Amino acid sequence: MLVMDRPRFREVLDSIPSYKPGRPPAPGALSSYKLSSNENPYPPLPGVMDAVMRAAASMNRYPDMAVVELHARLADKYGVVVDQVATGTGSVALLYHALQASCVEGDEVVYAWRSFEAYPIAVGLSGATGVTVPLTAGARHDLPAMAAAITDATRVVVVCTPNNPTGPAVHRAEFDDFLAAVPSRVLVVVDEAYREFVTDPDVADALTPAKERANVVVLRTFSKAYGLAGLRVGYAVGPAPVIDAIRKCSLPFGVSSIAQVAAAASLDVEPALLDRVDALVRERGRVVNGLADQGFAVPDAQGNFVWLPLGDRAVEFGGFAQDRGVAVRPFDGDGVRVTVGEPAANDRFLEITAEWRAEGEPTAAAPEYATTF
Ligand SMILES: *Cc1c(COP(=O)(O)O)cnc(C)c1O
Repeated sequence: MLVMDRPRFREVLDSIPSYKPGRPPAPGALSSYKLSSNENPYPPLPGVMDAVMRAAASMNRYPDMAVVELHARLADKYGVVVDQVATGTGSVALLYHALQASCVEGDEVVYAWRSFEAYPIAVGLSGATGVTVPLTAGARHDLPAMAAAITDATRVVVVCTPNNPTGPAVHRAEFDDFLAAVPSRVLVVVDEAYREFVTDPDVADALTPAKERANVVVLRTFSKAYGLAGLRVGYAVGPAPVIDAIRKCSLPFGVSSIAQVAAAASLDVEPALLDRVDALVRERGRVVNGLADQGFAVPDAQGNFVWLPLGDRAVEFGGFAQDRGVAVRPFDGDGVRVTVGEPAANDRFLEITAEWRAEGEPTAAAPEYATTF
């Protein structure tokens, strides 16, 4: 028998799950809502569609590789120079670039767990070894433990605030202590994908250290609050040498001309953006209060999502909600992340949790959370 050679891939790929998209709601459900991917339920902001249509007319041309206009707008917004700003195809891409720029085989990357499901994949692909630090009982980052997990091999620490999927944001005092404890040779990547939704008055300010320190970079995105998830554009603000390293790892012409224009146009209409964010934050409060009234222990929700710590029943709840027309994101054995959507979707979700409560005693083993609703 002829044995054919075939292309071989890096061993690390065996440990990386093939991508599973957020499930769309069951077809045929009376009404169905997708609350599984932390998307913004609103259509594009005013003026953005027009800008996109105009940009679409020149799609035969490559985008501006230097992203001149958008970088200038972001630099202006944050009081930095353009050399302190990079853009990418979503802030996830910028995380990949930061890791690729920093890590080789044998290096270590510290991050909290449970956190964003892209982290183990991005870290694995960089060749580095992930060192995970469990969240505290309140589903928060344990920053002292993360600082203590740094070794001579550590190149990067990722801090996700607010933490996806559990919700709490890192606080100012603990973050300042953390930065003081992290050696300056270790890059701190602060993933603030949900920063616009934060109402916690104690939230850490990562932008100031990103401007002042050599080893702090902040990632933000147009996908969530700005509602441009489908266009793929995020950005990094940090020290010029870090930004330069990130840019060197970027794919050429990654951020499309349409995405560049849409992001810039979104920055023109920030008051409208803030109205929408306020409405979602109010809905978040309504959902959190509704869940608390039903007896759920929900950790502090600072993003556009809530976390149900259902433990062993997480996947079961995912199916339960799916059957009732709402797609949510269960994490096996741990909990369920549910996006705050339009009011009708949130109403439906609260009906489903009430029905779930009526049928069992799901939160008996749930941990206690210090909640600030
Ligand atoms: C959604 C999300 C991102 C960003 O996604 P992009 O669409 O790639 O900008 C980054 N980090 C976390 C924690 C997220 O939840």
